[in-house]
Amino acid sequence: MLHIHKIPVPTPYPVGPVNSYLIKNRPYTLVDPGPDTVEARNALMCGLASLDISLSDISRVVLTHSHSDHSGLAGWLGEIAGAQIYVHQYEFRKLTMDYDFYQERLSFFREAGLPTEVLKEILADVDTVKRPVLPSEGIKLLQGGEVLEFDGGSLLAIHMPGHSDGHICLNDQSGENFLAGDFILKHITPNPNMEPELKDFSKRQPVLRQYLDGLAVMNEIGVRLILPGHGENINHSPVAVLRAKKHHGERLVLITSLLDGTSLNVYQLTRVLYPNINGFEIYLAISEVFAHVDYLLACNKLTKKDSSGVAFYSKATCL
Ligand SMILES: [Zn+2]
Ligand SMILES: [Zn+2]
Repeated sequence: MLHIHKIPVPTPYPVGPVNSYLIKNRPYTLVDPGPDTVEARNALMCGLASLDISLSDISRVVLTHSHSDHSGLAGWLGEIAGAQIYVHQYEFRKLTMDYDFYQERLSFFREAGLPTEVLKEILADVDTVKRPVLPSEGIKLLQGGEVLEFDGGSLLAIHMPGHSDGHICLNDQSGENFLAGDFILKHITPNPNMEPELKDFSKRQPVLRQYLDGLAVMNEIGVRLILPGHGENINHSPVAVLRAKKHHGERLVLITSLLDGTSLNVYQLTRVLYPNINGFEIYLAISEVFAHVDYLLACNKLTKKDSSGVAFYSKATCL
């Protein structure tokens, strides 16, 4: 049996604290250590001390994904505890010096019809937390399907894209626990972040399709207790899966109805759906709208017309 302990670690983000998880079976393993801030380091060390663990006892750090609220302290733990870091190969790419989050997405902003001043507003909303960067060598790269062995149990790494393209969840093979990262949360639906196709950055990955497929995987494996990356545990996972599906189903219906008899670009749709948002929130909202529009287009529920590089969408009419 695996002994999994939750350590809430503060973040400066609206989502609140991130849940770091210590698996207190050898080799001692920490999942998602938290952001690289003084407050987070102190909370993590206090949490570990209350479990009679010191930093040097940590042998492995596993990241569910690269977002800085989860991954920021991984490099530090690798350095001072000598812990081996495990991360999906697509997320590792985002934790390198050369990675430029916005550069890879500029063509999407153009396609969305985003005015230049709004792009400037998004770019000016700089994260106060230092962007995490891992050493270029010595990282264990995951693809999904790997089994992490412990004294007394094991965790299966499952590739679950849709929030971030290299997101992994960890399923306790005893069937008890499912470490979900940001894939599923109790009170909020994770943002379906727009991700470029790695072979052609001008195209987006079908992130909503990926996410809905991941929810179906959760149902198949019959998860019992979800240990999420933020907030409380989730006991009845079929209910959580249904709630996430319902949220996206309602969004799909709403967006289709907004495009009935008219033609809008993604930025216009975003402003209708989210009239009072600023800075990075606009990026998140555009991501959400693109995810749904791409999904509807792939299902032939919408039509798309290009006007000077900006995509305009309308509800498809049945012939
Ligand atoms: Zn995240
Ligand atoms: Zn998160």
